Amino acid sequence: MATDSGTSTAAVGDVAATLDPADWDSFAVLAHRMVDDMLGHLRTVRDRPAWQPMPAGIRASFSGPVPWEGEGAERAYEDFVRTVLPYPNGNLHPRFWGWVHGGGTPLGMMADMLASGLNAHLAGFNQAPALVEHEVIRWLAELMGMPAGASGILVTGATMANVLALAVARFAKARDAGFDVREEGLQGRAGSRLMLYGSTETHAWANKAAELLGLGRASFRQIPVDDAYRIDVAALEAAVAADRAAGHLPFCVIGTAGTVNTGATGDLERLAAYCRAERLWFHVDGAFGALARLSPALTPIVAGIEHADSLSFDLHKWMYLPFDVACVLVRDPAVHHATFASSASYLAVVTRGVTAGGFPFAERGMDLTRSFKALKVWMSMKAHGVHAYAALIEQNVADAAYLAALIGADPELELLAPVPLNVVCFRYAPADVAAERLDALNAEILVRVQEEGIAVPSGTRLRGRYAIRVANVNHRSRREDFRMLAEAVKRIGRENAASGCPEPGALSPGTPRTRPDRA
Ligand SMILES: *Cc1c(COP(=O)(O)O)cnc(C)c1O
Repeated sequence: MATDSGTSTAAVGDVAATLDPADWDSFAVLAHRMVDDMLGHLRTVRDRPAWQPMPAGIRASFSGPVPWEGEGAERAYEDFVRTVLPYPNGNLHPRFWGWVHGGGTPLGMMADMLASGLNAHLAGFNQAPALVEHEVIRWLAELMGMPAGASGILVTGATMANVLALAVARFAKARDAGFDVREEGLQGRAGSRLMLYGSTETHAWANKAAELLGLGRASFRQIPVDDAYRIDVAALEAAVAADRAAGHLPFCVIGTAGTVNTGATGDLERLAAYCRAERLWFHVDGAFGALARLSPALTPIVAGIEHADSLSFDLHKWMYLPFDVACVLVRDPAVHHATFASSASYLAVVTRGVTAGGFPFAERGMDLTRSFKALKVWMSMKAHGVHAYAALIEQNVADAAYLAALIGADPELELLAPVPLNVVCFRYAPADVAAERLDALNAEILVRVQEEGIAVPSGTRLRGRYAIRVANVNHRSRREDFRMLAEAVKRIGRENAASGCPEPGALSPGTPRTRPDRA
């Protein structure tokens, strides 16, 4: 018996085994300590480095054996405090602007704890947690300008939200073309492809989705962008026409509200009108940009988003909530349901008891067992109010403009793309440094800024040039933080330019190889 139990909770005689604490009082003491410690950690985050490398000894501690014997909750928590807590990627920090990672909120954290405590199963069921998710989706649909009655579901991230939306688009447009993709799949349609369109700035999820949904990457046409990194609609129209002439079946256009590289938003009004006229599904990836619609001042930037057939956006980016939570909205609830419903569910529509109302969320996506993500959204929206989010989003946009202005006024720095929203791409480029050295030099600057714990921007490539990228969805940043970044970039730039290294081509290990920024 030594092999399989290894736990102090094994049944002995009449005492049933359980994972509930043997001593609730001492567990409560530990639980309160966890809450106090974590709140303390959040409260003091500004005093710590934005990021720090992990010592080798800590790294090695993650190569341990399977823990057959329990060490107890206290020890497990101490392991967390010592080896995990100090070494995250830094996204809680006021000077974290790498990729588009939100920083979470204390209230969101507590709501997640409550949701885990309740451990609600969100396939549906006749329970209050399901009504919470329905209510949140109704609120979000209204805020996005979608019709009342639009369908939706909360999922892990915009990637999954986009994949689900594309599955709905594929089902709907295949049905219009006379075949049932749920029954037949895409097999046997050799020669006539379902074609998908988006700009070259579309986030990398679209390739994954095209692969997963059996469309194949060759069915995803990446349309060029203009000088402001927005999809060239004339080129889109030409591509659709050419594919139709070749016997293909164009079915969906992806518009992006807020591209990950530069924060660009396509002409969504024009895309919507074009898709309507051409009977194409109009999907908008609004991972962070869609939330600009919460601010009346910023709404014009994403005008047209309300015409989308489907719209995806994260709540863990520009609603600052803890990972993970995103939303997909589908204008036509019937087609959303028809894409994922299992025929078995029609057989037994129960109107009383725990299963009354069925499993609506299991029939709007892939997951059957789903966590109560909706609680942190619901509590946060109630607690802070949408106006608070609008003000923070405006603050992020204004701070990005502030940083862009600092860069524009500084002869040593160069802005590499327009700043329509909250993303700033720039580099250290004083007149006396040769152009061919700039990529390697800026890649080195980026890594040094991170290693010194000053800030965490990320890197990207724009029209072949290496850029330091600040994506600001941080509700903890202040103006001084942006000044600190600009000063650090110049100091490190001067130090490295003077030392004459690195040479062109000698890119540092931190230099991204392919599309590092696609997060
Ligand atoms: C972040 C992002 C995604 C992916 O979202 P996840 O939540 O990371 O899955 C997709 N599109 C855009 C424009 C993004 O910024």
